[in-house]
Amino acid sequence: MGHGWEGVVLKLFRGRDFTFTVTGTEQVTDRFRRVRVTDGGLLAATGGAHPTMWVRLWFEKDGKPHQRAYTLVDPDPETGTFGLEFALHEGAACTWARTVKIGETIDATLQGTGFTLPDPAPSRLFVIGDAAALPAINSLLDAVPSAEATIWFETAHEEDRELPFRLDEAHHTLHHVARGDAGGQLVSEVKATLPELLGEDHTDAYVWVACDTATTRTLSAYLRKELGLPKDRVNALGYWRP
Ligand SMILES: Cc1cc2nc3c(=O)[nH]c(=O)nc-3n(C[C@H](O)[C@H](O)[C@H](O)COP(=O)(O)OP(=O)(O)OC[C@H]3O[C@@H](n4cnc5c(N)ncnc54)[C@H](O)[C@@H]3O)c2cc1C
Repeated sequence: MGHGWEGVVLKLFRGRDFTFTVTGTEQVTDRFRRVRVTDGGLLAATGGAHPTMWVRLWFEKDGKPHQRAYTLVDPDPETGTFGLEFALHEGAACTWARTVKIGETIDATLQGTGFTLPDPAPSRLFVIGDAAALPAINSLLDAVPSAEATIWFETAHEEDRELPFRLDEAHHTLHHVARGDAGGQLVSEVKATLPELLGEDHTDAYVWVACDTATTRTLSAYLRKELGLPKDRVNALGYWRP
């Protein structure tokens, strides 16, 4: 199937199209599934990957194209392979992940992804996200292995506490926060604990946020306006609409 008007717009913005082929699937928890793919030449075309790198995958919903963003997991340019990890809920992307078989293909468009860490690299990371952001969070921890990291991880379900973080217990601290009040619980927890950890000097800190769109907007405004963090010290992107 074609990609509709969204596909046309992405072409105008120099979107590049690829076709991935599924080579394996793995149920990580009841609500989290990994799908491994070959990349149809993507990593060769881009010369590698950057932390939190994502692609637009084209699913089908009611006979129409349905485009959703997913993060590359462990991209390997030598073999042209990576994983895609799906936090499972209702939705066409999740239905695809639940049912896809080895050998099936999916179209992808690369457009819009980018990532620049401050230079010099931050020595303190503050990360706020949920299961949809786990692949990006792990790529961030891998990218700055020496940084001290504090992670506030919103869990919608008890089994989200078992999700595989790439933690180095010596300098990573993970706080689980049960989702409540449509993200309000997470916002309260961050407001109660982040300011003291952050301190007055922000020059070595970097705050990365990816939650539902409303929670992300609230946290981004808090970080910039109330805590006074400069633009290059905050990266906030809403990952899903409640
Ligand atoms: C840059 C970027 C990278 C992303 N990377 C990943 C990734 O690696 N893994 C991943 O799982 N997701 C990731 N997401 C989020 C993913 O794109 C969305 O969750 C998307 O809406 C899923 O599409 P869908 O077709 O399954 O559901 P939709 O048709 O979009 O939504 C169906 C229903 O599910 C609800 N819903 C959608 N997403 C979620 C969610 N995450 N949690 C709870 N309820 C939800 C909606 O409110 C709606 O009621 C990323 C998003 C962005 C912007």
